[in-house]
Amino acid sequence: MTETVNAPQAHQFGIHALVWTGEWTPKAADEAIRRTAEAGYDLIEVALLDPYAIDVDATRASLARHGIGMTASLGLAPGTDISSEDEDVRKRGDALLGRAVEVVRDLGGDYLCGVIYGSMSKHAAPASSRSYGNSIESIQRLADQAANAGIKLGLEVVNRYESNLLNTAGQAMGYLHEVGRDNVFVHLDTYHMNIEEPNMSHAIEVCGDRLGYVHIGESHRGYLGSGTIDFQSFFGALSRSGYSGPITFESFSSVVVDPVLSNTLAIWRNLWQDSDDLAAHALAFMQAQLHGADAVRFQ
Ligand code: MN
Repeated sequence: MTETVNAPQAHQFGIHALVWTGEWTPKAADEAIRRTAEAGYDLIEVALLDPYAIDVDATRASLARHGIGMTASLGLAPGTDISSEDEDVRKRGDALLGRAVEVVRDLGGDYLCGVIYGSMSKHAAPASSRSYGNSIESIQRLADQAANAGIKLGLEVVNRYESNLLNTAGQAMGYLHEVGRDNVFVHLDTYHMNIEEPNMSHAIEVCGDRLGYVHIGESHRGYLGSGTIDFQSFFGALSRSGYSGPITFESFSSVVVDPVLSNTLAIWRNLWQDSDDLAAHALAFMQAQLHGADAVRFQ
């Protein structure tokens, strides 16, 4: 059981880049970062599925110009799956993740998260013990490289259709125990928790101080508050846990398309049209939920 802390925590609020754009040219990146700032967020989560493609200097300049911080996330593809039993595939995954850590470092960030422990895809069978061991071994090496760059890793727990390794907070804590590195944390996402966890507060309590990153997403990945996620329970438990890490809004609509990520996540319909309205609404929603949860505890 997590100890109750005695004061509300300050938080950085972030927004996933796919709210703004599905490409990351210098021009698209600058516009996304500018709109992130205008909507009142502290940081943007860059979709780093191809860390070799990013113009690091241009993105760093845009972040500085608009006064916005960054984190990065990615989901490995089947061809870069570090849990693969094919050593060539694993090597490509190790290299890609190593490059991602360098990009985060060079952009001034301190967090790399997402499905970085295996491929983000629907698997046809349970993970073998060899796959599980391969994943852990690669994450240990990546964690050591990341630690040298002052970077933390967040392992995103996702639903059964997107990973056969980590579907619950409990599984992630078991995996973390095997990894045994201080800079590796659990990354929870309300959209996935809603599918796999017994309830919102249970998952947060299971993680305790090993919860390092959260994604806030609705049950249909659209406007917060318009679906079935129990945000009151989630933010109540988050407040009680003393969590002080980033709180990042994640939402997808077929209005904004990344040719790889949108298909992987099965984004087949429009949940919204207006990114600016969605972003402003989400920030107000998250702040109000957290404010209410803190007020209950500290009135
Ligand atoms: Mn997520």
